[in-house]
Amino acid sequence: MEEIIFIVFFGLAWGSFLNVLIYRIPLGMSIIKPPSSCPDCEKNIKYHDNIPIISFVLLKGKCRYCKAKIPFSYPLVEFLTPLSFLLIYSLHSLSFFFFASCFFASALIVLGVIDFYHQIIPDEITLPGIALALIYSLFRKDLSLNQALVGALAGAGSLLFIYGLYYLLRKKEGLGMGDVTMMLMIGAYLGWQQAFFTLILASLAGALVGAFFIFCKKKSPQYALPFGTFLSPAAFFALLWGEKVLAAYLSLYKNLLP
Ligand SMILES: [Zn+2]
Repeated sequence: MEEIIFIVFFGLAWGSFLNVLIYRIPLGMSIIKPPSSCPDCEKNIKYHDNIPIISFVLLKGKCRYCKAKIPFSYPLVEFLTPLSFLLIYSLHSLSFFFFASCFFASALIVLGVIDFYHQIIPDEITLPGIALALIYSLFRKDLSLNQALVGALAGAGSLLFIYGLYYLLRKKEGLGMGDVTMMLMIGAYLGWQQAFFTLILASLAGALVGAFFIFCKKKSPQYALPFGTFLSPAAFFALLWGEKVLAAYLSLYKNLLP
């Protein structure tokens, strides 16, 4: 029980830090200085207005001074971070894998939200993520360095292949190279099977949401979705339940054979 309380509080504080990264990295700002301030009136945010989730509710989602709206992603990230840590904990307890996976989940959250708002996937997150995943593979038992490298190349390579087909068919660049770099990171941490699973899941979700926007919201078929925002939850799902889904799928397949 103490462990769970610790993870919740740590996750809430860590989520606040992730919000700082999400806001500052696309603007090229330092992540340490200056202290947080309102982007509209530039007044510094007092510590009692910076309590995860609670402050957002008390301030009704507005700056205390100028009443500018605080993006909903702030409480969402502060909620999703401890939630994802608890889900990882429920499967792996407080192991080395737990801490590594919390880092991985944090990178996914930051990338997913930044891609949603800015349609970019910053190298500041993906490149250290790839390096950490490869270094971590030297210590973990479930994925060797070779498997991590194969995972990275298979994940990124298959996405590049899809982009190539898309380019040939529509003579138009579909998506940015940031998604490919993000797949390098996902593959290096999850291995090639789960990297494929992540791609399939993200593509299905992207196609469903894209169809919804085109048919229900009458957006143009050229309407581009931020693919990293789909890769992010898909990779997290693969991290937690990918092996189970794959095992269930394989046993189903075996049972269907005569
Ligand atoms: Zn303000």
